[in-house]
Amino acid sequence: MTQLERVVSKEEQEVIDYMDELYEKIKARDAHEVEFLQATKMLLNSLVPVFVKNRTYREKNILEQLIEPERIITFRVPWIDDNGKTHVNRGYRVQFNSALGPYKGGLRFHPSVNLSVMKFLALTQIFKNSLTGQPIGGGKGGADFDPKGKSDNEIMRFCQSFMTELYRHIGPDIDVPAGDIGVGKREVGYMFGQYKRIQGAYHAGVLTGKGLNYGGSLGRTEATGYGTIYFVQEMLKDRREDFKNKTVITSGSGNVAIYAMEKAIKLGAKVVACSDSSGYVYDRNGLSLQTIKRIKFSEGARISEYVKTHPEAEYFDDGSKIWSIPCDIALPCATQNEIDEASAKMLVKNGVQVVAEGANMPCSIEAIDVFLENDIMFGPAQAVNAGGVACSSLEMAQNSQRLSWTVEQVDEQLQKIMKTIYSNCKRASNKYDHPGNLVVGANIAGFTKVADTMIEQGVI
Ligand code: GLU
Repeated sequence: MTQLERVVSKEEQEVIDYMDELYEKIKARDAHEVEFLQATKMLLNSLVPVFVKNRTYREKNILEQLIEPERIITFRVPWIDDNGKTHVNRGYRVQFNSALGPYKGGLRFHPSVNLSVMKFLALTQIFKNSLTGQPIGGGKGGADFDPKGKSDNEIMRFCQSFMTELYRHIGPDIDVPAGDIGVGKREVGYMFGQYKRIQGAYHAGVLTGKGLNYGGSLGRTEATGYGTIYFVQEMLKDRREDFKNKTVITSGSGNVAIYAMEKAIKLGAKVVACSDSSGYVYDRNGLSLQTIKRIKFSEGARISEYVKTHPEAEYFDDGSKIWSIPCDIALPCATQNEIDEASAKMLVKNGVQVVAEGANMPCSIEAIDVFLENDIMFGPAQAVNAGGVACSSLEMAQNSQRLSWTVEQVDEQLQKIMKTIYSNCKRASNKYDHPGNLVVGANIAGFTKVADTMIEQGVI
């Protein structure tokens, strides 16, 4: 296991051995779940200091309990395409931990979805949700359905079929799904309609990320992207820096990337590159957000369209090469494992100052080690992108009140939450002798709250 500290004490070694043993046990059980094992390893690595100082967690075997989901639901999702042909996809909901509140986490519709991906996302969601300070447990779901190229009616039929099974497992006080990759306001709307139809009751708080007409929250669409920038602002403040005149790269061009770009530009940064699953665009003088929004939101087209109206920019086919562009701040906002060790080294060589994860687990373990070893300010996903789910929790609060808050109220809360997350992560990293290591800080701050609550609620 990679430990960044040089001298390892006897107590530390004992805990490292315990973590290694636990990891091997989990690996033996689910050897093929690559992403889940990666997330587990990252978690165990960073919890070593807290286990050295607090023996109760080990005595109560809290980690082995925490690492096993409370419940996993998999189900068949049949649907009929526009030509009358029947297709079958696999649906999932991983209800991982409910210590702090109802399970909460998004639904991902993407061909790469499998149980390993669902479990890694649900595991990291537990700590992310804990960090927000909101009363929400951790879960995640989705299907291996590819929304690309499907008609609106096909999407609607898929969402309805998905909810026809999922409805019996969720509810405003049980489990509250939202969007993720491939699931936005439209899909949430179709699923909400189906849930309402089946239940015969209006449970506004059963899903978040809803449309504004029926209980959605102002500011939710922007929250993950804006929250990412609010977090980076705090990181920069610590070094007496800000976004002014910084060169930024964001991978991806979905909600997270676009609203991160929007806020970064507003704060004086220059965003020079962004991507989609086909490739990336680069303009050293800065990209036009208006054009990117038109391409992605209005036309639903590929980012390669950008150069048609901006011949001064360049388009490249291989999206992974985006990290070879020199920048001050790198924001991976697309998907898991998009920055490997080689890309990380390239970013460091080109002088990157801050790397913050807008997406979930976009950096490999080796990539994170490269950043930490080189003293690059690194913000881990569970802290950096927590603004989305935090705002979902604010949506749940509004639904319970049967009220709608103004965008200013929501944004003020979001800023406060992101600042608190940063200071809690920083405090935990200092307390456990890893100053500057926000991976350790975020995991420990997120974990201790959940673990202490599990103990308070009585573990078996
Ligand atoms: N999918 C988002 C995440 O990864 C949001 C989840 C939610 O709002 O429940 O945190």
